[in-house]
Parts: sequence; C-alpha cells; structure tokens
Amino acid sequence: MIYLDNAATTPLEPAVLETFTKVYESFWANPHSLHKIGEKAEQLLEQARSQVTDLLGGSGYQAIFTSGATESNNLAIKGIAEIHKARGNHFITTNSEHPSVDQVLTYLESQGATVTRLPVGTDGTVTEEQVERALTEKTVLVSIMMVNNESGAINPIKEIAAMMKNHRALFHVDAVQGVGKIPFSLKESPVDLLSLSAHKFFGLKGSGVLILRERQRLAPQMIGGGQEFDLRSGTADVPRAASFAKALRLATENLPAKLAEVTRLNAILRESITTIDGVQINSPERGSPYILNCSVNGIRPETVLHGLVNEDIYISTVSACSSKKSELSPIILALTGNEERAKHSIRISLSHKTTELEIRRFLEIFRSTILTLR
Ligand code: PMP
Repeated sequence: MIYLDNAATTPLEPAVLETFTKVYESFWANPHSLHKIGEKAEQLLEQARSQVTDLLGGSGYQAIFTSGATESNNLAIKGIAEIHKARGNHFITTNSEHPSVDQVLTYLESQGATVTRLPVGTDGTVTEEQVERALTEKTVLVSIMMVNNESGAINPIKEIAAMMKNHRALFHVDAVQGVGKIPFSLKESPVDLLSLSAHKFFGLKGSGVLILRERQRLAPQMIGGGQEFDLRSGTADVPRAASFAKALRLATENLPAKLAEVTRLNAILRESITTIDGVQINSPERGSPYILNCSVNGIRPETVLHGLVNEDIYISTVSACSSKKSELSPIILALTGNEERAKHSIRISLSHKTTELEIRRFLEIFRSTILTLR
C-alpha cells in the first residue's frame, strides 16, 4: 500500500498506542476523585497538559483537552463570541477555512454577527495588512488557519500575531495541518487560541486540544461538572491526554530533519508532475511540503482516484471533510479563480514516513493511469 492521504488522517504510532494502553491499565481512576488513585490520575493529566504547552514553547498558556479540532474550533469561536457579545459582534476570517471554522461563523452570522471573510491571494494566503485593514473596534476575534488542508498554503501567523498585539481582538489559529509538521512556537507566534488534532500527527482520533492563555475567559459549550477549568465538562480522559502529549512529542522530535526530507520528496513530486500533459499544480511553491494539490484536466478526480486504488495507492479528491457535499473545491476556486481546476483537483499528502521509493512508484502509476484514462 502507498498511503498519500496523510492530511485526512495518519495511522496510529505504535508507541502512542502503547502509552494509551499502559496509562489506561494503571491510571483508570477518575482524576477528579479525591482518593489516592484519583490523585495519581490527576497528576498524570496535569503532566500531560503542561507537556503539551511546553512542547509548543508557550509560557502563560494552558491546554484544554477536547475530542478533536472540530470541538476546539467550536469552543474557541463560540466561546469568545458569547463572552464578548456586549463589546462587539464582528469576526474576521478567510474565505478558505475548514468547515469547522467557516460553518461556526456562518452560524454566528445567522445569530446577528458580522463576518469579514478575507479573500486569499494567488498563493492561497492572506496578509497581515489585509487583516489590519479589516479590524474595527467591534472585532472580537480573528480566526485564520495556519496551513490550508487542501492547498498547503501557509498563512503569516507570526506577522498577524505581532500586528494584533495592541488590538483588543483575540487571534485564533486552526493549526491542525501545521503543528507537528512545520516548526511553530507560541513564544515566536503568541496567538491567543490554537486548535490541534492528534490524528493528523500519528496520534489517536477523538483527541484534540485547545490552547489558550491562562485566565482567558471563554463560554463553555459543554456544561456539567466543571472539568477542564470549567471550560469543557465531562470526566477527563487521562490515557487520551497522555497519548496526545506523547504523539506531539514524537511529531516534534527532529522536526527540521523530517521537514527537510518531506521537502525533498515534494520537489521530486512537483518536478515530475509538471511534465505530465494536462496536469496543473495548484499548491503554492512556498506552501507546506506535506500537501501537493493539482488538477488533472478533463478527467474526473474520482476516476483518477479509483485508477490509483486499483494499484493500492491512496490519495484524496477534495478534502475528506467536504468531499460528500460539493463537486467543486471552494478552496481551489478561491486560490486559482478557475472553476475547471477547482472541479478537477486532487490532493497528494505526505508524512515524514513517506519514502522516495513510494513517491517514484506513485509517479509512475499516476502518469500511466492518466495516459490510460485519456
Ligand atoms: N481543521 C483542519 C484544517 C483540518 O484539516 C481538520 C481535519 N480535516 C479539522 C480542522 C478538524 O479536525 P477533526 O476532524 O480532528 O475534528
């Protein structure tokens, strides 16, 4: 099998599963129980929490464990919207966000909020100047993703965070396709809220985090026993929290070397794909090397996909999150302005475990599949 759909999800790292099993066996008690075994579980939960913020290089931040980035994004955006209702009702985002950000903002619009969706440029990103021009006294939150899940475009998070330093609005970043793949530190990019999902970096599914500044108020979306600092009720899942920290540690270990190797493989892909007749690359040159999006003119993406499946090769058409809803990728449309390209886009996504042999074999089959289908 050649798996090139790592932006959709990654397999579980055996060491992460081992952490999960071991912690579950020994620390299954409720961390909120006041007895000895409860306290031990609580210690482990707090250890995982601080490991996560330490790995992200942030002091003055805390991690809230969630069920994934969809929940983290919902909690961040709705949580801030509700708490700041009296001060303002304006939000800034881009026209290329993941549905778990975009749809939440659409919901808030239906409740009376105003949302500015900044158009991305031909490289799929927005600039800090665009954000600055859109900010008003009524802006409560800016939500911009770090790396686009379809195109790999990388937004200037550090620059936006620096520009927003003296503004009252908060800055939320959906970092799902960035953290664990490209270098990031909260010290360099002091954003206010950050969403992560473990299954994108070889961790467990149903395991996410929302990072926020200590003492940042947020309206909880899950109300009950008051766990996770009153921000997300429900018995804490200690084994999952420990596994999140483990997966993040493994993902960020030797990151520069892993990134260099993926960059090298991406260059091989790019160079070869540009020589295939009728195939155009949509991903910006300076985007994340983990994602390469291209359009195959005149052939339906599903047909290309199935041709590859027959050879045990797995890629994506539009992202897994929106693949059932639309025949056209709004992200690629926003980036290229070309409907045909947006209708015919496919996504090849790598991980640090992808090998050159796999890439060469993929290119061979990809080329011959397209020739056969033409
Ligand atoms: N944001 C981005 C950019 C994503 O790629 C995804 C997953 N496709 C999510 C958010 C949602 O993550 P999850 O499905 O783990 O909740």
